[in-house]
Amino acid sequence: MVNLKNFRGGVHPEYNKHITSDKPIKVLPAPKEVVIPLAQHAGAPAEPLVKKGDSVLLGQEIGSSAEPISAAVHTSVSGTVLAVEPRPSINGREVLSVVIENDGQDAKAPMTGHDDPIQLPREEIRKRIEAAGIVGLGGAAFPTAAKLSPPRGCKIEYLLINGSECEPYLTADQKLMEEYTEDVVLGAKLLAKACGAEKTIIAIEANKPEALRKMKALAGSNAIEVVALAVKYPAGGEKQLIKAVLNREVPAHGLPAQCGALVHNVGTAWAAAKACRHGQPLIERVITVTGDGVKAPANYLVRIGTPFRDIIAAAGGFAGEPGKVIAGGPMMGLAQFDLNVPIVKGVSGILVLSDKVANEFDPMPCIKCARCVDVCPVYLMPVTIEKYAMNAMWDEAEDYGAMDCIECGCCTYICPSKRALLSWIRLAKTEIVEAHSRHSS
Ligand code: SF4
Ligand code: SF4
Repeated sequence: MVNLKNFRGGVHPEYNKHITSDKPIKVLPAPKEVVIPLAQHAGAPAEPLVKKGDSVLLGQEIGSSAEPISAAVHTSVSGTVLAVEPRPSINGREVLSVVIENDGQDAKAPMTGHDDPIQLPREEIRKRIEAAGIVGLGGAAFPTAAKLSPPRGCKIEYLLINGSECEPYLTADQKLMEEYTEDVVLGAKLLAKACGAEKTIIAIEANKPEALRKMKALAGSNAIEVVALAVKYPAGGEKQLIKAVLNREVPAHGLPAQCGALVHNVGTAWAAAKACRHGQPLIERVITVTGDGVKAPANYLVRIGTPFRDIIAAAGGFAGEPGKVIAGGPMMGLAQFDLNVPIVKGVSGILVLSDKVANEFDPMPCIKCARCVDVCPVYLMPVTIEKYAMNAMWDEAEDYGAMDCIECGCCTYICPSKRALLSWIRLAKTEIVEAHSRHSS
């Protein structure tokens, strides 16, 4: 394939997408009980709108917030609220959650759709996306409606729909583009109208020929361009995508809107289409369950709030003793220690690795090879930030750009000494944010 869009830095890990790339999306039956966290998005947590003992309908709003950066939360089953209490979540913390016993009826709350939603006024599209509690499904879980309103003085020229799915192992976005092509294209058009973009481009890594073919066939007749990206991680990073496709740079500490671009994931487009056409809130998503540690890897449409243990059981259960269970992929995912944690809006997969594959190495001394510097797609010096973080020198870590780290994990991946560079940089970022909030309070 010619003219693949590329960016500087990045790595070529084993993609291992063949495990599930030919597995069609299966609908996973709703569990007996869902656990729905009220903070599963960037910004302010939602406040509960229900209490123990309440009856709820499928799609009913159970959490909301008046804060500008937040997202509504809806129930993915009908039934009875068993508890509103802190429960373990994928980030390792306890999060206030609504626990609901499924009555198996799927009795729906009223949902207002539209036969031809692209005819809706721009603000009405944005409002429907907001009411549906849609957040970025690529992982960041930033509230979509807030992202659709560019900062004052910024004009959105380009909407980029991110179909790169560069994270190894995961194939949920690929299957979504192949099987829900029409919804993804409709969602792209709705998002473009809502943000006022002049041009829409769907970007897909070249290792997904069927998704590229199907999206090109439909997008072309809708005045949307489809481009192929070089197969390299992290092609789907927001700044890397904008550089590769538009050859524009997002300013340091800045927003894509400042260079005239907005990026939304293909899953977000799919969710926007369902919200505007059927009035359906974000109560389900497609995920990949994969790795050598599960017996029957597959792609599933799952209800938000389904516990990991139920999903892993549906995928045949563990193949032997698991070495690691990860929410997401191996590069940016989060290792889990409790299988009762639920699937949330921003999680696109569950990766189970056997002991053999998950084998962790003890870090060795740095040999000053600079490979971590070479692969960093945002031009940082990971080895230097690590050194400052290890010595609790947070001001120096900030001076060296720790806050610009996109947490792609390329440095950790490439390091021949197996140093935990990203873990130290994440710690530095947390400390820097806390120091700033202490100074401003
Ligand atoms: S420093 Fe951050 S952005 Fe750079 S390679 Fe490491 S994780 Fe990625
Ligand atoms: S890649 Fe590892 S060994 Fe090489 S300079 Fe970076 S931290 Fe040191």
